[in-house]
Amino acid sequence: MAIIIKTKEEIESLREGGKRHAHILTVLSRAVRPGVSTGELNRLAEELVREGGDEAAFLGYKPYGAKRPYPASLCVSVNDEIVHGIPSDERILSEGDIVTLDLGLVHKGCITDSAVTVPVGVTDRESKALITDTRKALELGIKAIRPGGHVGDIGAAIEKYASLRGYGIVRELAGHGVGRHVHEDPYVPNYGEAGTGELLRPGMVIAIEPMLTLGGERITLDADGYTYRTKDGSRSAHCEHTVLITEKGAEVLTSR
Ligand code: MG
Ligand code: MG
Repeated sequence: MAIIIKTKEEIESLREGGKRHAHILTVLSRAVRPGVSTGELNRLAEELVREGGDEAAFLGYKPYGAKRPYPASLCVSVNDEIVHGIPSDERILSEGDIVTLDLGLVHKGCITDSAVTVPVGVTDRESKALITDTRKALELGIKAIRPGGHVGDIGAAIEKYASLRGYGIVRELAGHGVGRHVHEDPYVPNYGEAGTGELLRPGMVIAIEPMLTLGGERITLDADGYTYRTKDGSRSAHCEHTVLITEKGAEVLTSR
């Protein structure tokens, strides 16, 4: 698939959708507390998305290689789960857990993708640092975007920061182009070499999403076909924004 440069109209819809998206993730984050099930968070996400007259991009979406469509609106990944955790009423959050909320929003036909990891009540110092540093890695990845720059600039900035602090970087999953489809080109890995990869051109829209762990980098896929978790059981955090490449650099469309 060739990289899609978005039209002015699409960029306007993505801006509007991005604001709604940010609001929904803020409300969802506040609903995270001990005793809440991941299924409840999914239902709240559905309500919030529908209230705005929009649609959830992940519900019924079948990623390449998947055997069945994704069965929920929100991905909720707890502790050692990295991404694509399927919400359930049986999965109750406990004090000290960390939970990633990942939502795709369709607004006027345009898709934004954004995720946040939050603590459930009070968590341990290491987990708190993991969350803060994953967010920081995302910020640095975005800051690395310059006119005439390359996709590799983003991964290089994320990798440098994460490895300096001793985190594992999930290398088998990556960011991606987004907007008309949930997953578009280019592939945006969380590691790499500055000055390499696709040229970043104004009008490109990409999801940048570092996934860091407190342990190793190996991952496994659960029997449900969706939930990715760390092989060593270490905790993982994930932070994601949809970003528009502009003439001057970058504009974060899902900024909270
Ligand atoms: Mg996402
Ligand atoms: Mg994504």
